[in-house]
Amino acid sequence: MSLPSVRIYEVSPRDGLQNEAAVVPSAEKAELIARLVASGLADIEVTSFVRPRWIPQLADAAELVGLLARAPAETTAAVRFWGLVPNRVGLERALESGIGGIATFMSASETHNKKNVNRTIRESLAGIEEVLGVAREEGLRTRGYISCVFGCPYEGEVAAEATLGIASKLLAAGADEIVLGDTTGMGTPLQVERVIAFLADGGVPIDRMAVHFHDTRGTALANALTAWRVGIGTFDASVAGLGGCPYAPGAAGNLATEDMVYMFEQMGVSTGVDLEALADAGEYAATLLGRELPGRYHQYHRGARRRAASRAVSR
Ligand code: MG
Repeated sequence: MSLPSVRIYEVSPRDGLQNEAAVVPSAEKAELIARLVASGLADIEVTSFVRPRWIPQLADAAELVGLLARAPAETTAAVRFWGLVPNRVGLERALESGIGGIATFMSASETHNKKNVNRTIRESLAGIEEVLGVAREEGLRTRGYISCVFGCPYEGEVAAEATLGIASKLLAAGADEIVLGDTTGMGTPLQVERVIAFLADGGVPIDRMAVHFHDTRGTALANALTAWRVGIGTFDASVAGLGGCPYAPGAAGNLATEDMVYMFEQMGVSTGVDLEALADAGEYAATLLGRELPGRYHQYHRGARRRAASRAVSR
């Protein structure tokens, strides 16, 4: 019996680097992305088309997409690069850059949405519906992130009804995929199962849902496994766990891609990703940033390499 395979949506170049203090030069970002592509990742969120002043780490969006387009066609033929888009102006920049997919974002929590983008949920929806409509007309693939689906740092519990209302509107406006975000890593497995079942019962097709888990409290991998068992096929992750929790400095953020690939592949679930090549990309990321990164498999891999190197020296 073959198990349903998994598609991984890699977020490290955007979601990871956005939360780093350092600004990584475009050429080094392009090198990291090339290594991610070489590992077999086929969907990579590379940047954000927010106002450059807001996020200096990603101010080079157009330049970076231009660099990626210069890679040999045979290496990226099956790859789609994605960019985050906050509004209509951002969409125009994304279209000009030639990127293949865009993602919009808003929150299921009114307070979080207000603090994050200074709009009410209603105002966000109106803007995003327009962005999704135009993006679709222009032939881009689209995904709509919903933050705080499994809990909000300000409001606590978030009703699944709020998520369903937003997801239905995003789908109607042209989103190919709805991404359920556990923005501060509050979710737990049985809750994940409940929320996904509620959305599916409410008319959100399971094959158009994706999940974005954070490991802030150590539940990300358990949540991912649970989501897979109830039929989710697309999982966001970040190499080496790049990108901390924006609300708690020093805490873990994105689920590490290596950890997820290891778990799925060892269970016989195909991810299309070569774990060794991916771990090398993680090593490159750690070298680039000059610090230890939180991914578990990443740390194991670094340790094993160090042991091998010291054995080689002592012989
Ligand atoms: Mg994230």
